[in-house]
Amino acid sequence: MKELVPQPPAIVRNDVIEIQSLFQQNVVPSYGRFDLVLSHGSGSQIWDITGKRYLDFGGGIAVTALGHAPPAITEALIEQSRKLVHVSNFYYHAPQGRLAQALVSLIGPGKCFFANSGAEANEGLFKLARKFGHDEGRFEVITALNSFHGRTLAAIAATGQEKIKKGFEPAVPGFRHVPYNDLAAMHAAISPATAAILIEGIQGEGGVTPATPEYLLGLRQLCDEKKLLLLMDGVQCGHFRTGRFQSYQRILEGVPGGDKFIPDGISMAKSLGGGFPIGAFWVRQPYADLLSAGTHGTTYGGSPLGCAVALKILEVIHREKLADNARQTGAFFKAGLEQLAQKYPGVIQTVRGVGMMLAIELAPNISAFAGEGKTAAVRFTNLLHAAGLLAIPTATQIVRFLPALNLHRGEVEEGLKIIESVTASLAG
Ligand SMILES: *Cc1c(COP(=O)(O)O)cnc(C)c1O
Repeated sequence: MKELVPQPPAIVRNDVIEIQSLFQQNVVPSYGRFDLVLSHGSGSQIWDITGKRYLDFGGGIAVTALGHAPPAITEALIEQSRKLVHVSNFYYHAPQGRLAQALVSLIGPGKCFFANSGAEANEGLFKLARKFGHDEGRFEVITALNSFHGRTLAAIAATGQEKIKKGFEPAVPGFRHVPYNDLAAMHAAISPATAAILIEGIQGEGGVTPATPEYLLGLRQLCDEKKLLLLMDGVQCGHFRTGRFQSYQRILEGVPGGDKFIPDGISMAKSLGGGFPIGAFWVRQPYADLLSAGTHGTTYGGSPLGCAVALKILEVIHREKLADNARQTGAFFKAGLEQLAQKYPGVIQTVRGVGMMLAIELAPNISAFAGEGKTAAVRFTNLLHAAGLLAIPTATQIVRFLPALNLHRGEVEEGLKIIESVTASLAG
């Protein structure tokens, strides 16, 4: 039988140039992409279309919680898609109710709203803050310098980095930024219009900078005194990446009064769906009904398919004790990186982070990187790629490792060898 529709031309193996030219001609060039065309993965390994294998220590920027092509996600997708892929939020369905229940039990008394991304989850928190302050004419949200909260108009207004706002003025009003981990600066910034404070428990794009316990406890007290909502962006640092469900739980471990700390709202995404796009925010009980019927919504948020995947990920994390793995394998990895920093102080200046959210800060004047062009972070990352390891650069000097929560020790050992080979080659 004659084909009615012509077959698209086959993508020939090794045809890196052809795929890149499809992007150049047809995809908006809003990303600076690496020269890699990826094909398939398994766990923490990924292959490009030329057949070269890499260890993936970038995890899709803290997304692929269970690694690539995890059978549990495949099964959840197949099983749920045979029943229901989507229904409108005009109706009830079991997966959304169960996922909300699971998140509430991991955080504390409150309720959840489901969105499709981190920026959208934060948008929900901004609307919550405005609703909360509305009757008193309060609307302002104070955030931290070097923060990152997403790429929508309100999220770039919330983000404390000029480069992300540039060219998109006028900014959505009602956001101001103060230095991170500086309680006095936050105190001084509060105005009669302030309704909420939003911070990341560990700044991710800012360079893997954890909040100090004193900062978290101090912000809680400040928000109670001034009747402000304390909102936390857990999109990157949440979902067991630190060894606890939320980063503040890890940061405040063993700190007097730490077990009583709880924010008023938390945004989630990234590892929540392990690669399936889903976001969420949790809001603490006294404020859980502020967003009443008709005030907020999204077509796809909390779909049966997305919630079934998120539930499966939580089940696997629990069954395979991946929070403990993130903590222990992360500590092993960090110790290895610290040894490299000691051995090659001219290349690696500091090591930061906790669990599976780690970073190295490169020394400022690595001679091999002299001259203009790309940042040291990008150039170091390119060398890692060539040596067979994926990582995520940020700022100008920082290279992040945000691997799958089920990364194992053997993979860390292999990864450390690759990182050492690149570091040693720059030390000369
Ligand atoms: C990635 C990220 C976001 C934005 O999430 P998207 O899903 O890309 O919209 C927001 N906040 C933090 C801390 C992030 O790391």
